[in-house]
Amino acid sequence: MVSVACRDLEHRLALEVLTTDGIPTCEGISIQVLNSNNAYLVDAGSEAALGGIYTIGFITHYHKDHTRFMADISCNLYLGPELTRHSRIPKVERRYSPFELLLLNGAVLQTFPYSQDISKVYSNEDIEVYALPVDHIRTLKSVGYAIKNRKTGAYVWVSGDFFRLKQPSIEFLREIKPDMAVIEVTFPSGFRRHYHQNLDSVMELIEDLELKRCWFVHLSKKWDGQIKKIAQYLPRSGAQFYF
Ligand SMILES: [Zn+2]
Ligand SMILES: [Zn+2]
Repeated sequence: MVSVACRDLEHRLALEVLTTDGIPTCEGISIQVLNSNNAYLVDAGSEAALGGIYTIGFITHYHKDHTRFMADISCNLYLGPELTRHSRIPKVERRYSPFELLLLNGAVLQTFPYSQDISKVYSNEDIEVYALPVDHIRTLKSVGYAIKNRKTGAYVWVSGDFFRLKQPSIEFLREIKPDMAVIEVTFPSGFRRHYHQNLDSVMELIEDLELKRCWFVHLSKKWDGQIKKIAQYLPRSGAQFYF
């Protein structure tokens, strides 16, 4: 999967799922996207993200397993969906209304209005980032992100936690045909989904969206003893995917 020809980070972006022990559990989620100039972070829930220096971070939603290390990771700015009164963010120091800016030990969280449609939330010379609305739990605004490499036109999709994708997100994914997806599969086959995906629902989605390459993250303890079944879909520790 990792070839020397692909290590051209002037043009390519690399994506890496960060885990502390090689198994991407729902204890903590962080994903990094990087090139020769910048590193970007999606979610700040894994201790494995500590030590990195990120240009910007993107938060899918404000559950602890996605935000736990926001105040400890070196990042100037986080972008995330607007807050609800159920949103829980650790170590919030001060909130500036009406701009919805929060200071987290120096890092700022800037929220964008949650939309039922796709919204472009960030772009620079390397990437364009789109927020894809999802249903996760009713009380929390949640999104996934599609990240475009502007030099190659290729996309990756990071699903975030979700029970259901909003229709515009499904349509957008059909259109952009991501080269790579990082999808939550909290529960094994046959388990009740409880705000998340199980293996059956994810495999259906992969087929429906004709996704070619997927990495599974956010595994619950229910997977204990069954990891072997999906080992081929788990990101190997330190492995990078180039797009
Ligand atoms: Zn969640
Ligand atoms: Zn989660």
